[in-house]
Amino acid sequence: MVIYEGKAVFEGIAIGKLNIYQKKEQSVKRVKVDDTEAEKKRYADAREVAIDELKALYEKAVKEVGESGAEIFEAHQLMVDDEDYIESAESIIETEGVNAEYAVAQTGDNFYKMFSEMEEEYFRGRAADIKDITERILNALSGAGSGGIVSDEPVIVVADDLAPSETVQMDKDKILSFVTVHGSANSHTSILAKTMSIPAIIGCPVPLSEELNGKLAIVDGNEGKVYVEPDEEILAAKKKLVLEEDEKKKLLEELKGKDNVTLDGQKINLYANIGNTKDLGLVLKNDAGGIGLFRSEFIYLGSDDYPTEDEQFAIYKQVAQTLAGKKVIIRTLDIGADKQADYFKLPKEENPAMGLRAIRICLTRPEVFKTQLRAILRASAFGKISIMFPMIISLGEVKRIKEIVAEVKAELDADGISYDKDIELGIMIETPAAVMIADELAKEVDFFSVGTNDLTQYTLAIDRQNQSLDEFYDPHHPAVMRMLKMIVDAAHRHGAWAGICGELGADLSLTKEFLAMGYDELSVSPGRILPIRKIVLETNVSEYKG
Ligand code: PEP
Ligand code: MG
Repeated sequence: MVIYEGKAVFEGIAIGKLNIYQKKEQSVKRVKVDDTEAEKKRYADAREVAIDELKALYEKAVKEVGESGAEIFEAHQLMVDDEDYIESAESIIETEGVNAEYAVAQTGDNFYKMFSEMEEEYFRGRAADIKDITERILNALSGAGSGGIVSDEPVIVVADDLAPSETVQMDKDKILSFVTVHGSANSHTSILAKTMSIPAIIGCPVPLSEELNGKLAIVDGNEGKVYVEPDEEILAAKKKLVLEEDEKKKLLEELKGKDNVTLDGQKINLYANIGNTKDLGLVLKNDAGGIGLFRSEFIYLGSDDYPTEDEQFAIYKQVAQTLAGKKVIIRTLDIGADKQADYFKLPKEENPAMGLRAIRICLTRPEVFKTQLRAILRASAFGKISIMFPMIISLGEVKRIKEIVAEVKAELDADGISYDKDIELGIMIETPAAVMIADELAKEVDFFSVGTNDLTQYTLAIDRQNQSLDEFYDPHHPAVMRMLKMIVDAAHRHGAWAGICGELGADLSLTKEFLAMGYDELSVSPGRILPIRKIVLETNVSEYKG
């Protein structure tokens, strides 16, 4: 038995086999070969593997997002078999007498450049697809797999770190737990773990060696430890704890269907945060009163090109219909910083968290913004949708957003398309600037939702992604707590409601304080709803009001 220690970001215990996650990127070496025919055969075999993978991905995507969302995997199959691409790679193998990996990487680079310099936007968009299929063939050549989870049973995923674009591709049913060597407590890996309510440990030095693949392990998210090949005694003790945890969960089950009302009659809405439609099951299972944060950027991250209006509409409609009249707050795309999608071609920035991101992208690329707004508004005819805008710093932004929303509404009216004419508009309060002008902002919107993850980062000047700063990152910092009070008071002064959708909202040690501050809503990972409801039901708020 070997024990590794890290920082737990979600509690609970998982027992299962380890799956060492391999990054997709390949470093390709140029190697001289004698037998070029054998290299060409390796290349042909790799193409076959890639096509089989793409067929499987197509089937999976059809089930998850429907035919139109799956089309991309069909297009990729055609690209793997593209004659020009194959001729080019084979000719490099032949004329230079080199390995297939090098020939494919060269061809991929050349085709990528060619496409990305083309006039027409459509072809420029295909450049990202070239990169994708090239990586897939390279993976097949090296036998590295597609970077996903290759296992029939649920596993403990161990990785160096995971980007949102990687987690979005993972089959969530196959994940028991996350363990990462790097990553910060506020990264999206930990947010994902919380959404899935599975134990997760970051900053844990488990070696990323193939040898560990398939070995039995225990992840203890309560103590922040990973036991690889545990001895009998530990295994028995942890199995007992798993049973006890199941028992606690059963007790929480009894709270389903109850109102979130304190002993002295104060109500609070408890909503769920989600990243995609697969989380909807968890929303219903945990008896959420609605969705307080739908991180719509994950639709963009899971796509190789801008998702079309119809693709987005289908997703938003599904969410609205599944929630059957309960509130669904869709946050417009919050791309940039740690959430990168190649096809946005965002400039490389020194300081991306303070760069071109979120609403700034939407306001500088109104066509992308309007496509999303049209899709959301159309879906609003099928349920109770609200729209929320991230990273606001000024009144001017809010006014401009409202003008754009009005333009999109007018277009829909002209086309005779129905939508909720009174759709609620809200903003995220996640910059100190927004806190300071909260009174002015509150006059313009229906609600505020506090993004404490970013608000803490910008207030404390601590990069939320930087693991080495975790010891300085104090989520209970008095500056943040005072801001939270200022925000809710400003909202109420002007008839707006206020909620918290950042991770702090799920901090059980603060639930009573949020009630005392007067928050109307907390939006948290689905697994946190019942534990918070328990506290609400046991609280007498008047005891906590200062
Ligand atoms: C936040 O910043 O608190 C938030 C909810 O948004 P995200 O974590 O997606 O940036
Ligand atoms: Mg944020």
